Amino acid sequence: MRRRLTGKVVIATHNAGKLAEMRELLEPFGVAAVSAGELGLAEPDETGTMFAENAAIKAHAAAQATGLPAFADDSGLCVDALDGAPGIFSARWAGPDKDFSGAMGRIFSELDRRGAEDRRAHFISALVLAWPDGHTELFEGRVFGSLVQPRGTAGFGYDPLFLPDGHARTFGEMSAAEKHGVDWQRGDGLSHRARAFVLLARDCLGQAV
Ligand code: IMP
Repeated sequence: MRRRLTGKVVIATHNAGKLAEMRELLEPFGVAAVSAGELGLAEPDETGTMFAENAAIKAHAAAQATGLPAFADDSGLCVDALDGAPGIFSARWAGPDKDFSGAMGRIFSELDRRGAEDRRAHFISALVLAWPDGHTELFEGRVFGSLVQPRGTAGFGYDPLFLPDGHARTFGEMSAAEKHGVDWQRGDGLSHRARAFVLLARDCLGQAV
């Protein structure tokens, strides 16, 4: 059975871009949120082989450490012609210096090396809400699109090179609200994270206020 979230929640991420997006998505629900970074929690090793496993590792580690329900997102960019890479290694492709222009360049050089013309790609977000007693809720969102030469300075990570289907601007050229694209009435969103969050909100949060 689905469990409703009440009271305070920990956002189990040290990624500033994700943290900002998760806070924005939670905001209409009046849920008090504190981040793993603010609490000085250690980052657990992401030893899973799937997005959902890594999200669960992060959410459970934060729930155990704090005694509070915790949210975690594990997400990444999957490029069809690279057999789904960088996938769960999306953050790691940017290295310890979080050099995403280098990581975006690497995507294009890998495509060139393979002589691949297909530019299809999608983002995936696995969102896990975990309670200290081990109860777990999992939601997944995807957004499909294609890769273009990086444009725009908004957002984070691989946003500048991703053109979502049906749009003329990359995520890097969109405002946060446009990237989320949330329509609470229709129960839909644009970005992978917003799509997963809309499902989570429907099942685990009350009405938006
Ligand atoms: P992790 O889930 O913390 O392992 O890292 C996911 C990585 O995927 C991020 O560091 C970004 O590089 C990338 N990523 C995930 N979601 C997005 C997004 O919405 N825009 C751009 N890059 C993203």
